Amino acid sequence: MNLFDVYPLFDIEPTKAEGCYIWDKEGNKYLDLYGGHAVISIGHSHPHYIKRISEQLNNIGFYSNSVQNPLQKELANKLGQISQLEDYDLFLCNSGAEANENALKLASFETGKKRVISFKKGFHGRTSAAVAITDNPKIVAPINSNHESTILELNDLDAVEKELKEGDVCAVIIEGIMGIGGIIVLENDFLEGLESLCKKYKAKLILDEVQSGYGRSGKFFAFQYSSIQPDIITTAKGMGNGFPVGAVLISREFKPWYGMLGTTFGGNYLACAASLAVLEVIENEKLIENSQKTGDHILKRLNQDIKKCEIRGKGLMIGIEFEEPIADLRKKLLFEDKIFTGVSGANTIRILPPLCLNQEQSDLFIDKLTDSL
Ligand code: PLP
Repeated sequence: MNLFDVYPLFDIEPTKAEGCYIWDKEGNKYLDLYGGHAVISIGHSHPHYIKRISEQLNNIGFYSNSVQNPLQKELANKLGQISQLEDYDLFLCNSGAEANENALKLASFETGKKRVISFKKGFHGRTSAAVAITDNPKIVAPINSNHESTILELNDLDAVEKELKEGDVCAVIIEGIMGIGGIIVLENDFLEGLESLCKKYKAKLILDEVQSGYGRSGKFFAFQYSSIQPDIITTAKGMGNGFPVGAVLISREFKPWYGMLGTTFGGNYLACAASLAVLEVIENEKLIENSQKTGDHILKRLNQDIKKCEIRGKGLMIGIEFEEPIADLRKKLLFEDKIFTGVSGANTIRILPPLCLNQEQSDLFIDKLTDSL
């Protein structure tokens, strides 16, 4: 059987990974500033993470739902405490797309409406909130669900109000910081405007923090730079440091009933052990503070040293947009300088490193980038 070939891969096979580094089978050591699409939050192979997962595996392994799993409650408590969102309830699932689909379902149940508003350059997984980062009609259309979606220009509150006035919109969904669309930091005024429009027209505001959550932005969730209180928050990627897990944080205005949502694997023992280990390390090693500090350092140096580009981001979620395509630059960084970076579109380098990245490692990246330019 062949693999269904739908995304490109670098011809590098990792054999070991530790902290911010990966080694390939030829023994080359790479600095990882991408963390496999932003999933590596506490660093590769963290000893506390490995210990907690291994102990769980040796205990009762994966055993999934339908019985009491005290780790789920422990996770809900710890997540509430660290994110300072103790007033929300937690629903556990397995990925970002699944978290968003459940969020849309909740919004639909609660409002009795179906249409969803999302924004250009936004991305919410392969969900009915549509893939707004491309104009390709084959993939802009909602893919697998009974929601209809409308994609609007960012920052246009009048356009949002016009759609909400129609009375059929159940939710407005937006990322805390737009990731795949090129690391676009939102204006607080825009977020606050969305919140009040949603309240006025009885639609739910969903903050997709799948990529920007878990300390990546220098706050636990990126929306926490503003004063809004979303109705629903979704998260995944950094939550399990590579273990597949996702979550929906649901405000108390939603009243749960049996059958409202469901899952086979969501909240299984191993996923909970991985997620708890991540939160414990984030807390013990002050990784959110580190994300902010190292991110500020990178942004300052990039602004000083790199000309003719636009630099955007917060914490360790940074985009560097050049006037020219950057495919060759990224290849040089990877194959000559041994530094993994990510990309958005043709011209933007996207860095999403582990939150334990230090100043020395980030300086190495900026020195190599300046040399290459
Ligand atoms: N939402 C955002 C903001 C994302 O960046 C992604 C994935 O990149 C998703 C949702 C989908 O997550 P997953 O790939 O886990 O389904």
